Amino acid sequence: MKKQHIHQIKDLLATPKKIVIVPHKNPDGDAIGSTVGLYHYLKKYNHLVTVISPNDYPSFLKWVPGNEDVVIYDYNMTACNTLIEEADLIFTLDFNALHRTGNMEGVLEKSKAIKVLIDHHQEPHDYAKFVYSDVSMSSTSQMVYHFIEMLEDAHHINSNIATCLYLGIMTDTGSFRFSSTTSTTHRIIADLIDKGANNTYIYNMVYDTNSVDRLQLLGCALNNLKVLPDLRTAYISLSQDELNTYHYKKGDTEGVVNYALSLENIVFAVIFIEDKQEGIIKLSLRSKGKFSVNDFARAHFNGGGHINAAGGRSEISLNETIKKFIAILPTYSKALNDE
Ligand code: 5GP
Ligand code: MN
Repeated sequence: MKKQHIHQIKDLLATPKKIVIVPHKNPDGDAIGSTVGLYHYLKKYNHLVTVISPNDYPSFLKWVPGNEDVVIYDYNMTACNTLIEEADLIFTLDFNALHRTGNMEGVLEKSKAIKVLIDHHQEPHDYAKFVYSDVSMSSTSQMVYHFIEMLEDAHHINSNIATCLYLGIMTDTGSFRFSSTTSTTHRIIADLIDKGANNTYIYNMVYDTNSVDRLQLLGCALNNLKVLPDLRTAYISLSQDELNTYHYKKGDTEGVVNYALSLENIVFAVIFIEDKQEGIIKLSLRSKGKFSVNDFARAHFNGGGHINAAGGRSEISLNETIKKFIAILPTYSKALNDE
């Protein structure tokens, strides 16, 4: 972020402001960690701050300190629209285009508030006055740490901020193993532990709160695993009926695609999840090495994300979607086999 912009933001934050912070729709650990972490930081300066999440999120994120203050747009549209219309400043975190906020897109677009974008996805859209975009970053939560550092306020990081930012960095780095994890990431993590993030507690709350239903849904998903060895690709599907059988709850399919990617010699993995209510098939795409699932999702499945992790959607049936996927794949044979 430009020094000059940091000075301008610092000036803006010198007096109490009405501030709204927004993560993307279907927020993950990084979206919640970064927004609620920034919330705790800004609260220290007596700003009137509200985190507005476009929709609800899984229970394994609901233990974060400050969770009770997060407002869900889909459940409180009128009040949220007023907050957005009256805001002086809007921080948009962990996404690169306003359409990623679902139903909030229109009201955010119209709002006259000064917008600040903090994000690590490729190709940020041009909607914010202040842009802190860095695709090399492990997570938006790490960027919030750097943002606070740039404001010369690292000493203000307390255990609530530390806990939220630790959550976001942990979840977006696959517990510190993805290639975006640098020595700087580890130094930040060390500092967050020093400042009160309880690493064992945070890991347990996110990953060790499985239900029997969730594990059996995982069993079903693994049974549906298909491998295309010549294309170094593996995919999993889950139909709405299968989700219903195991009483699917938001978050239950998080991370399932990684099992397909863990296969020896596989560099590309996809999970197709049927959502009858929205009338779509949701795709989660993951890769290893240089094969860009961001490009693949953008080109064929109306989505995007990062080089090694992206999402997308399809409006045809589950079977048709998988057929389309299998038909497209051979055109990527060289790229997949060059890995
Ligand atoms: P996931 O597969 O976990 O839902 O998402 C993986 C990554 O892709 C995340 O960084 C997420 O923000 C991004 N992503 C997921 N779905 C979409 C989508 O529909 N459009 C775009 N542009 N990005 C997405
Ligand atoms: Mn993220």
